[in-house]
Amino acid sequence: MRGALPTGDNLSQRRIYTDAKCPFCGEEETTFHLLYKCSFAAEIWEKAPFKASLVPEQITSIRDLIERAKNLICLPPCDIGGGPLFPWILWSIWLARNHRIFKDKQSSPRETLSQAIALAREWNYAQTHPPTQNQKLSTPGTKPTSPTDSETTVCHTDSAWNANQKVAGFGWVFSNCREDFLREGSECLTNIRSPLLAEAIAIHQALLHAYEMGITNLSITSDSKQLIEAILSETPHKDLHGILHDILILSSTFQKIRFSFVSRNVNRQSDALAKRSLLNIVPRPVIAF
Ligand SMILES: [Zn+2]
Repeated sequence: MRGALPTGDNLSQRRIYTDAKCPFCGEEETTFHLLYKCSFAAEIWEKAPFKASLVPEQITSIRDLIERAKNLICLPPCDIGGGPLFPWILWSIWLARNHRIFKDKQSSPRETLSQAIALAREWNYAQTHPPTQNQKLSTPGTKPTSPTDSETTVCHTDSAWNANQKVAGFGWVFSNCREDFLREGSECLTNIRSPLLAEAIAIHQALLHAYEMGITNLSITSDSKQLIEAILSETPHKDLHGILHDILILSSTFQKIRFSFVSRNVNRQSDALAKRSLLNIVPRPVIAF
């Protein structure tokens, strides 16, 4: 995932964080290093209960890792119902890294692998045992706007950008046809060079959250026609650089995914979240995109 995760090297490039060292081994923290090359990650991949092992010579990038890991089959005692384990390994390494940096909490490779297997099991259980009424969230008046089936989760995304300070707020709202699921979120980031990039980051953030929630069938909307066209055409765009690539890589982890353009009118909720988030760092009127 080129440039998407806030690993040390990416943050250094954005001048957000100066200590670009891997918290496990002290080497330079790139995404590839953290998730595969680091001795911490390597031990997890080696111990993971896959039928066959990854061949290090075949893996020179994060894309290689995802492509190869997608084909790995878990041995039966794992009890993860035939679902993939590798996304949970990646996710657990990321969590272990954050716990070590931000909470000073250390977990071993073995513990991290156990957590990945437990998460994969939980996800599998959630797929075969629908939530009870108590677990459902009510969503009065929220209807998906795309032609989707009942299993599809719709996510509206939007961003708000401040041209003077080059900062952006992002908002996303998840819902589904059954109206039993609604989750929303927002975030803001500095050093965002264009409104188009801000829209792309909003989508990328939404994808990360969808992935984290175990959503497999997703419909993403944006009111940036230019961005949706860039994603659908999969062609490089001068303003988007790595983020487009990251969106496409992350998209490949979903069973079903679609991207569509919607008018600003139906994107008001995510728009409001994005603006509110931006106001936290720029308490002045902003130009919204
Ligand atoms: Zn390391």
